[in-house]
Amino acid sequence: MEIYAHHGVFPEEKQEGQFFYLDAELYLSLHEAGITDDLTKTVHYGEVCELMKETFTERSYDLIERAAEVVVKKVLLAYTHHTTAVPLIRKMTLNVNKPHAPIPIPFENVSVQIERGWKKAYLGIGSNLGDKRKYIEDAVEKLKKNELIRKVRCSKLLVTKPYGGVEQDDFLNGAIEIETLLQPMELLTFLQQLEQEAHRERKVHWGPRTLDLDILFYEDVISNDPKLLIPHRDMQNRRFVLEPLNELCPCYVNQLLQKTVYEMLKELPD
Ligand code: AMP
Repeated sequence: MEIYAHHGVFPEEKQEGQFFYLDAELYLSLHEAGITDDLTKTVHYGEVCELMKETFTERSYDLIERAAEVVVKKVLLAYTHHTTAVPLIRKMTLNVNKPHAPIPIPFENVSVQIERGWKKAYLGIGSNLGDKRKYIEDAVEKLKKNELIRKVRCSKLLVTKPYGGVEQDDFLNGAIEIETLLQPMELLTFLQQLEQEAHRERKVHWGPRTLDLDILFYEDVISNDPKLLIPHRDMQNRRFVLEPLNELCPCYVNQLLQKTVYEMLKELPD
């Protein structure tokens, strides 16, 4: 699409504007539309183009990176089917080209390309202080209310003995499957916000907590950042993680250990 807009760092760019060229790829299942010949079973390209144009021209941004991010998020959220099992757009790539950028050298084009989509993640959740079930249910409700999270599916909750040798009440533990547009660090920040809202105080390492939320898996990402280790380390030694997880995704592979959840659970000593 050719779209006239006002993005750029320079004031002249914001005032006068220039042509941009957007090139999008949408990923969705075409099978149902292919069988039924029904437009409502697929994406109406005219409508997507309108939405992209409207979003791209709504504001002026300094960066085409930002403009691309805003457009992709808008489209992915507009074509999320919360109510049906089949998501509409599961992934999108967008190229934003700016061939008239103010560069004082002959050049052909400048562009950015981004790819964003719904990513599957598994969370561990636990509580051993106060109304444990309520803390967990409230957190699940808040996950469901976040527009960047969908398809929240919970395991049964298990009563488990505390881990780590600190004298304290039993835990209630579970696992949660989600799909999210949040990047891993953004997801962690959101989970920490939920922990804080549950008035969790960090006093004793491995001590009592009103709410504990961990990222167990995020797609097949491996992260060695100490602030966010993915897959969650030590899961192979924790029955309270593996049992609920096994209910949701027995075949999911821990990429670090090259073992499925079911295998890790089976290998745990009694
Ligand atoms: P905990 O008190 O057990 O919830 O640990 C919280 C700390 O672990 C935080 O400082 C996080 O940055 C860090 N952390 C590392 N990896 C993860 C993960 N996969 N999920 C949640 N927190 C993590």
